[in-house]
Amino acid sequence: MTARVRGRYAPSPTGRLHLGNARTALLSWLQIRAQGGAYVMRVEDLDPQRSKAALEGRQLEDLRWLGLDWDEGPDVGGPHGPYRQSERFELYRAALEGLDTYPCTCTRKELREAASAPHGMGGAVYPGTCRDGSCHPERPASTRWRLPEDAAVAFEDRILGPCSQDVSAEVGDFVLLRADHSATGGAPAAWAYQLAVVVDDGAMGITEVLRGADLWASTPRQILLQRALGLPTPRYAHAPLVVGPDGNKLNKRHGAPDLSALREGGEDPRRVVAALARSAGLVGPGVERVSAQELIPDFDLAQVPREPGVLVL
Ligand code: GLU
Ligand code: ZN
Repeated sequence: MTARVRGRYAPSPTGRLHLGNARTALLSWLQIRAQGGAYVMRVEDLDPQRSKAALEGRQLEDLRWLGLDWDEGPDVGGPHGPYRQSERFELYRAALEGLDTYPCTCTRKELREAASAPHGMGGAVYPGTCRDGSCHPERPASTRWRLPEDAAVAFEDRILGPCSQDVSAEVGDFVLLRADHSATGGAPAAWAYQLAVVVDDGAMGITEVLRGADLWASTPRQILLQRALGLPTPRYAHAPLVVGPDGNKLNKRHGAPDLSALREGGEDPRRVVAALARSAGLVGPGVERVSAQELIPDFDLAQVPREPGVLVL
């Protein structure tokens, strides 16, 4: 692996990109470009039912319109990528085989009822029901990872500061491969985000992960998986979400259209980039138009505040 700085943007093609996604993408791209590093685009189309090729195309076009570019990709899809997780399932399979896992046949309803405490991602702590053998071998089974004895993780986030989580107490053994319900007319088996991200960040030599603050609570799980798989841990930065002038999460009520709507409506991308940059403290309040490229020389991650950024287009 080269020592060069490497970063990625990893959109899920399950919806349109909004200004909050655009801000995270811009920051992640700037962080790498300011260090002369390599930038990778990775489409996280793990969920075969929710991922749509048309949405992928739209998202990538929106990102190019903002002035973001990426450097490499697999042969499929051309020299400039993107990578697609749907084309990388063998890698996830190989990683899974090296981990201590067990089948879990608990239903969502059973898990909800057994929930002992809420955790950061809106789910519940897995109570370990199937750890020593499932009581419903006739049901479709998910594959869970048996957490190591000590699953307390601390890391230094480059924006949020010190972060920690005891994964045993707050998450429990988590799913790496979702149950295959296709025989009963339900969803096919699906690789879990946590495993795919860790395998891909490792395989792609990612040294810097900058993503939305809503994902910070996944990082301890990912660090544990990296350790178990013998992969290095990248540096993490979780960018705060954007809010409208009233302090609420940015949405359509603030008249915040998605990126495609702006692009197709003939908006000037330099005006959008300026708004994103202002909200992240990268330029002063008077800057009305700027390109992503022009932001590279002065970019400093330390300027990005921990508080949600107020975005006014
Ligand atoms: N695919 C994830 C998302 O769209 C991002 C994953 C990551 O950056 O680790 O929210
Ligand atoms: Zn179970």
